[in-house]
Amino acid sequence: MTANDSRPTRVGSNTQLVGAGHNPFDFHGFVNPPTVRASTVLFPDAGTMEAHGQKYTYGTRGTPTTDALCTAINELEGAAGTILLPSGLAAVTVTFLAYLAAGDHALIVDSVYGNVRRFCDTVLTRFGIEVEYYDPSLGAEIETLFKPNTRLVHLEAPGSNTFEMQDIPAIAAVAHRHDAVVTMDNTWATPLYFRPLDFGVDVSIQASTKYPAGHADILMGTASANARRWRRLKHVHGELGICGAPDDAYQVLRGLRTMGVRLERHQKSALAIAEWLEARDDVARILYPALPSFPDHDIWKRDFKGASGVLSFVLAVAPGRDFKVRAQGFLNGLSLFGLGYSWGGFQSLALHVDLDDRRVLRAPNEGPVIRLHIGLEDIDDLKADLARGFDAAG
Ligand SMILES: *Cc1c(COP(=O)(O)O)cnc(C)c1O
Repeated sequence: MTANDSRPTRVGSNTQLVGAGHNPFDFHGFVNPPTVRASTVLFPDAGTMEAHGQKYTYGTRGTPTTDALCTAINELEGAAGTILLPSGLAAVTVTFLAYLAAGDHALIVDSVYGNVRRFCDTVLTRFGIEVEYYDPSLGAEIETLFKPNTRLVHLEAPGSNTFEMQDIPAIAAVAHRHDAVVTMDNTWATPLYFRPLDFGVDVSIQASTKYPAGHADILMGTASANARRWRRLKHVHGELGICGAPDDAYQVLRGLRTMGVRLERHQKSALAIAEWLEARDDVARILYPALPSFPDHDIWKRDFKGASGVLSFVLAVAPGRDFKVRAQGFLNGLSLFGLGYSWGGFQSLALHVDLDDRRVLRAPNEGPVIRLHIGLEDIDDLKADLARGFDAAG
């Protein structure tokens, strides 16, 4: 499926990112693919039209620009096919709609991205799908939760905001014995640091909004399936009519070219900040899989090739003091870290994590959880900014 057949097949990930998805000589030698916007595509004659006998037929079914991004993602994920969605959230919800039907039972990890939980509890439930949340620490023991109608197991590792790791190969093996589809939200690691399909996952999902786009200006999602599960995903995507826009696909492909070097920097800075935080008395705990003291560090080390720039810490608060007041004091003391949702862009961000929706897991009791996205700024400036936050928190 590679666009550029003359390139060597076994190359490093940064080399792969530079060439993925577009062969310049397919379009006059231009290094980047053209942005092809379309609803209507013309057919040369009635017979071709009747037979849908050409590669492109209508804008919702893809253009050379959206195809370039899908081909690049297929290469990175080792996937049979990739669909584009208008957001990371839609990449998860459309994947669920592809494989679930009324009467099915779905197992969803309790550390799931919050908006996915809301989709499950409202839309899926309304359509007669039974949703059950499971503890991310379950490996092969997840088998006890399986029912005859369990059709899908959804993973997210590390988990949103609290960063629990999962034993992905163990869970996938159990799910496949029960013929359930294994889906995974791999937004944190990107396929550069973890390739879900190599570990038994059937559909790997990414919010391209985050590191692939990389500049806080694009919303997009991808879902990439292995050969066994690809046909269904492709058809349901076409039937729902929820497609990715060519201009956004162009920008995400552009972002991919530099994703490797950006991630290296995010990782280096995040680890330095995590170690700096760990040495402070006003920090109770750090939630970051790359830190050796993190309980799930061994699983991360076994399966992942790297860590990205998102981590949380628990602000130590004296007994009886209000968590929210302390958290807001900390956040209001920051000036380089922006207060805002999402992550994966160039700027550092911070927020107070709300864990009230968790069903199985318990929120840390030592203090409020603060999530940080470590951006591309100079590390010493970020440390100084965090120090101002700690002073402001009192
Ligand atoms: C941000 C995020 C999403 C959703 O992406 P959007 O493009 O913002 O809808 C999904 N999963 C995870 C893990 C995320 O962090």
